[in-house]
Amino acid sequence: MNKVLLLKFGELFLKGRNRHDFINLLKSNILTKLKDYKCKLEETQGRLILHDYDVKYESEIIEKIQTVFGLIAVGSAIEFETSLENIEKFALKEDLSGVKTFKVETKRADKKFPMTSMDLDKFIGEKILLNYPNLKVDLYSPDITIYIEVRTNNKTYIYKNLNSCAGGLPLGSGGKALLLLSGGIDSPVAGYLMAKRGLRIEAIHFHSYPYTSVQAKEKVLELAKILTNYVGEIRLHIISFTEIQEQIHRNCDSEYMITIMRRFMMRIAEKICEKNELGAIVTGESLGQVASQTMQSMSVTNSVVSIPVFRPVIAFDKEEIMNVAKKIGTFETSILPYEDCCTVFLPKNPVIKPSIKRAEMMEQNLDIEALVKMALNNEEVIDIK
Ligand code: ATP
Ligand code: MG
Repeated sequence: MNKVLLLKFGELFLKGRNRHDFINLLKSNILTKLKDYKCKLEETQGRLILHDYDVKYESEIIEKIQTVFGLIAVGSAIEFETSLENIEKFALKEDLSGVKTFKVETKRADKKFPMTSMDLDKFIGEKILLNYPNLKVDLYSPDITIYIEVRTNNKTYIYKNLNSCAGGLPLGSGGKALLLLSGGIDSPVAGYLMAKRGLRIEAIHFHSYPYTSVQAKEKVLELAKILTNYVGEIRLHIISFTEIQEQIHRNCDSEYMITIMRRFMMRIAEKICEKNELGAIVTGESLGQVASQTMQSMSVTNSVVSIPVFRPVIAFDKEEIMNVAKKIGTFETSILPYEDCCTVFLPKNPVIKPSIKRAEMMEQNLDIEALVKMALNNEEVIDIK
């Protein structure tokens, strides 16, 4: 008998021809997360099994695995050679003292095993009841479920409860994108959500030093660092936005200040995507949250790029975004009170329904290409591990 960890992945992506690529990527992501621990990872029909780890670190290891995208559950199980005697012996070893209701739930992947799942549920259930006379069976909402999985590798696994994992798709299975990372609450959440759907993330941050402080930049480094817990290493592109903002301020109507700033952010982000083979831009915009996040505003900012722009929190309320931020641990850092470049030169009445035509007209007063080039020339790159 071995103590192992049983890892379940979502079924959704297992059907297509990419199954092997997905699972190999998932395995390699898990092993990267566990690089500081001795362990072995094995695939058996629809499950991953972690062997040979030091039980002393089990809860740490489970916590790490819970942050790997593409898994839905993880927990400790016992593994032994399949036979009815063994199943009975080990199922009866499960400690059910203090438990009032239970059920047994068998999954028989090995159809050569002579009993059906339901027969085995009943057989083992009855044996357990003999050991615990006060215990009752409850098929609908038992205190404890004893799971028995008879798998095709001639091994059976028994476990009581699993811990839920992050879900989603394996990191990297969908390619790579560039996250516009401010110091706020929304953009780290947006990055997390896209990584959960399989995208690796690089990030770009615009600062307006000396209008924005050194602490504002450090806050962004800290947010990126927290995100690495889920998305692995992040390359952060830091861009000085000061000159661009000063020029917009001087040469364009103040109500269009933010609209035109956003168009510059998009242009610069797209150039960085081209250079680094990133397939999309990700932002933390939520429909109607502020003037620059109306449908019309987003269409005016989108119109300067031809790459897809993903806005995973577009339909989230602030409350819902905050709940994710708290869950992933970015919230406390995000609410530190340092200014963002968008708050510098903030107009009193930003336009709510801007038009592409007017934005383009105002931009005729600016040398767009030169400004973008200058910003890119002064790019600072930091790899955050
Ligand atoms: P957040 O909480 O993410 O800062 P927000 O609600 O404050 O969002 P805005 O300031 O309008 O909204 O920013 C909208 C989006 O634009 C952000 O979610 C982020 O993706 C991007 N963004 C804003 N400021 C910056 C910045 N300084 N550097 C990089 N991206 C930014
Ligand atoms: Mg912001």
